[in-house]
Amino acid sequence: MIRFHNTLSGKVEEFVPIEPGRVKLYTCGPTVYDYPHIGNWRAYIFEDLLKRFLRFRGFDVTHVMNITDVDDKTIKGAAAKGMSLEDYTRPYIEAFYAERDILNALPADHYPRATEGDNIQGMVAIIKSLLDKGYAYRKDGSVYFAIDKFPSYGRLSKINLEDRRPGSRGDADDYEKDSVHDFALWKAPKKGEPVWETEIGPGRPGWHIECSAMSSRFLGLTFDIHCGGVDNIFPHHENEIAQSEAANGVKFVNYWLHCHHLIVDGEKMSKSKGNFYRLSDILAKGYAPEEVRFLLLSTHYRKMINFTEEALAQARTSRNRIRNLLFELRHIERDLPPAPAVAQAIETARAGFASGLEDDLNISEALAALFELVRSVNTVVSRGELGREDAQSVIDFVADIDDKVLACLTRDAPAPADADTLEAWVREKIETRQKARAGKDFRRADEIRRELLEAGIVLEDTKDGVRWKKAGTAKS
Ligand code: AMP
Ligand code: ZN
Repeated sequence: MIRFHNTLSGKVEEFVPIEPGRVKLYTCGPTVYDYPHIGNWRAYIFEDLLKRFLRFRGFDVTHVMNITDVDDKTIKGAAAKGMSLEDYTRPYIEAFYAERDILNALPADHYPRATEGDNIQGMVAIIKSLLDKGYAYRKDGSVYFAIDKFPSYGRLSKINLEDRRPGSRGDADDYEKDSVHDFALWKAPKKGEPVWETEIGPGRPGWHIECSAMSSRFLGLTFDIHCGGVDNIFPHHENEIAQSEAANGVKFVNYWLHCHHLIVDGEKMSKSKGNFYRLSDILAKGYAPEEVRFLLLSTHYRKMINFTEEALAQARTSRNRIRNLLFELRHIERDLPPAPAVAQAIETARAGFASGLEDDLNISEALAALFELVRSVNTVVSRGELGREDAQSVIDFVADIDDKVLACLTRDAPAPADADTLEAWVREKIETRQKARAGKDFRRADEIRRELLEAGIVLEDTKDGVRWKKAGTAKS
């Protein structure tokens, strides 16, 4: 049984999809007025873990992530630079896709952009229906949602509705919980802002309506899971529910999953606060993308991640424990009959890994099961009692859960991770290569050079012998 914490009920609930075997998932994507920062990646990697886990459990997942390319922030940014929205947002969209691939997050099935195709038309249709049904009203060329008309307003975010002043309204796409008011669905034309001529008049959409329109376009009026960071709960997701349910008359989303923030020095990392790191800043410090992914993955999604250099170093150490074992296992050559205890340990790890994730994506429990396997296999290896066949079974198990779920352990694993083992490994390769050359087996010698190159090691034949260095560094 799979269980998730549903923000709507405030409880951990059994997950039952609308259609057996299929999951329809919508995750709020980037507002592309700047480059993504590592806090955004906390949210996207949590969503990637969720999606990979659902696929691992056999579900066919349809994933939609919107790209907000028209809102208060993108309009302001483009105007400041005297650029079109399209030109202004393009580099940020490209950076988002590139970093997604570097961090090994699976691409969504659809990335609708607000300004693309007839998406604005879809938003206008919802607004029109809200006007017709009396949930929305016009004021000075804009259209607002009347929250008083929607009795369950506030159910998701548990806001204090007593604070609201009936009829008070705001135009800002984002606002704080203490100013609960009617919000803009459609904004009247303003000097310097893009304008669409539509059935409900000229203007441009508010931020919230974009997600209501684009989710339903691909996933239907009611779908299974909607995600984002906790900052999205109010007002964004609260408003999405109000608009969609008022317009469609059916439940919008069954499960709302929100991840907690990644913080720096006790504050949420955010573009507007300027306290942010980009992925490239961290890679420039010498960390591998897989180490960053491991760090982002390994804290339960409903807990805050305090982003520090120590946390990165800790992620590296933990990940290397697994990788160093894998390296040793690859070099076991002795033939011993398979030990039932090893098969048993793998099965226990497999079950613990799956049951941890089934329990509201409890990654700590899932990883604990993996580390327990590492510990017990290390003991057998150090006694010299692990044979080649068992070694391969452990490798296959780790590769399987990594390929399907974790996606940060084995991808670049040909060489050992820590410096001392690496030194010994390279020396041994160089020696084998020298022997091959001495025996005129140049094909084998070349193979070894290529294998080292794949692991990022460059050989230099000098008159004083063979020297090596990591590709792209000066060290030898
Ligand atoms: P934005 O580009 O600001 O619309 O944010 C895109 C996604 O990143 C949303 O799901 C946000 O909730 C999430 N997000 C933004 N900042 C953080 C942070 N510091 N920690 C975790 N998630 C965040
Ligand atoms: Zn959204």
